[in-house]
Amino acid sequence: RFVSFEGGEGSGKSTQVERLAVMLRERGHDVITTREPGGTDGAEEIRALLVGGEPGRWSGRTEALLMNAARADHVEKLIRPALEEGIWVLCDRYAHSTLAYQGAARGLESDELIALHFIATQGLWPDLTVLLDMDAEAGLARAASRKGNETRFEEEGLAFHREVCAGFRAIAEVDERMAVVDAGQAVDAVTAEIFALVEDRLG
Ligand code: C5P
Repeated sequence: RFVSFEGGEGSGKSTQVERLAVMLRERGHDVITTREPGGTDGAEEIRALLVGGEPGRWSGRTEALLMNAARADHVEKLIRPALEEGIWVLCDRYAHSTLAYQGAARGLESDELIALHFIATQGLWPDLTVLLDMDAEAGLARAASRKGNETRFEEEGLAFHREVCAGFRAIAEVDERMAVVDAGQAVDAVTAEIFALVEDRLG
């Protein structure tokens, strides 16, 4: 089973990924957790190019290609082999982030991004995508209070993150395998809702 977690900055994705992993392991499942951009040595190197460099270095199109290059390595070397062995894969960001950031916020056509995703992954989509939904303001405030984070919100600003959050919501309306969870609830309530979703949909 393949579950991805999506949302804007500060929506709590990485916390919830780890919490779901613990709950699934307690029930006897083999689980790996991973993240994008990154997840393998090569993809983490590409991540450093993407999030470590000077702001505005890449166009949206170049960013999309780099994201997909990283994803190709990640899927080939980690995600697909794990799924073939029956291991659950929980991924902090995946293709919907590309649709929201490089698509909705940076203006690339979703048809192009989906074509690129097909080339990178041979069409591997998650069984379930959890959108941790939160307003851009609240998410940025949460992300800003975190130390040592590598996010782009400082240079991109609030307007950009509003586009990202709106992009995620629009995708959720048309993607049946995407479920929206209110990330503004208490952390335990978010975890419980995600676990119930996983049981219900992937049981
Ligand atoms: O989720 P995480 O904080 O690790 O994401 C790292 C950074 O990469 C974030 O600042 C996010 O805005 C950016 N990103 C992006 N486009 C994507 C995925 C992530 O700009 N498709």
